[in-house]
Amino acid sequence: MPKAKISVRSVKQPTSVVTGGAGFLGSHLVDYLLQRGHKVVAIDNFVTGSVDNIAHLAGNKNFKFIEQDVTEYLFLDFPVNYVWHFASPASPIDYLELPIQTLKVGSLGTHKALGLALNKSARFLIASTSEIYGDPLIHPQPETYWGNVNTIGPRGCYDESKRFAEALTMAYHREHKVDTRIVRIFNTYGPRMRLNDGRVVPAFISQALKGKPVTVFGNGEQTRSFCYCSDLIEGIYRLMMSSTHEPVNIGNPTEMTMLQFAHEIIRATGSKSKIVFKPLPQDDPKQRKPDITRARKLLQWEPKVKLAEGITQTIAYFRKKV
Ligand code: UDP
Repeated sequence: MPKAKISVRSVKQPTSVVTGGAGFLGSHLVDYLLQRGHKVVAIDNFVTGSVDNIAHLAGNKNFKFIEQDVTEYLFLDFPVNYVWHFASPASPIDYLELPIQTLKVGSLGTHKALGLALNKSARFLIASTSEIYGDPLIHPQPETYWGNVNTIGPRGCYDESKRFAEALTMAYHREHKVDTRIVRIFNTYGPRMRLNDGRVVPAFISQALKGKPVTVFGNGEQTRSFCYCSDLIEGIYRLMMSSTHEPVNIGNPTEMTMLQFAHEIIRATGSKSKIVFKPLPQDDPKQRKPDITRARKLLQWEPKVKLAEGITQTIAYFRKKV
């Protein structure tokens, strides 16, 4: 793994601030950082996060939780070494319901999180997304692709908030010399996804477990590539500890159609559910697959968890929830 270059290396026990720390990925990151010996301060306003995701950390002396909207000024009266900005609604259903909060957390929230990093001389990482590529015209998507986004469509609030967040991150890097990282996260799944967040993984698994019809949108020919959460967090940690300011895609390049995925979930759950077809939501990207050449080269990272294995873990989690 490339070594970090700044003074944080000399800190015995680094302090990390994770915005969105009670969310799906934020809470997995919190656990990972605690395992690696960090002190962790999670900030979340529970708009889409859940206290259940961090309840197991109650009483952990290295963990602190602050309930706050990160678009408000962030005041912390202790040194901070790393800021990981993960707060944002991230499922299409969530950001359709919360378009203004989504735009605010990507813009004002990123501004506050960068301001915190600047103030504390901390290293900063923004959780960006494959959505910045929109409905991509280049396949698979390398980081050099600028994207194909409908700014005024229903997904525009999320895509543009993250595009703005990347631009603001680079502006702070260039003007204020903040030591920044940008990760573009592709579809990720695993325990702690919300059962009703509308994303395809919880939707298909909960439908299959309940014996209800599995709802494939459109003709199911659109593709996605799913990364298991532990692989993703490992890749993001490596990125933070590397020395690259360029965006890096982190995701699993194993691509499949949504129809194939529906069959896979029905098989893995042993369900008798039938597949039904529903209208394709507007601007739903037709294909998505990360080009992870950069992550392989710069971070010596690639995903390890096979879909069947990750899905088994995820189904076990959802069985307890449905
Ligand atoms: N999808 C589907 N059925 C569902 C939910 C989603 O067929 O019940 C499709 C959706 O149209 C998209 C893909 O699954 O093509 C992934 O959707 P998701 O909401 O998980 O995330 P996205 O990758 O679109 O951000």
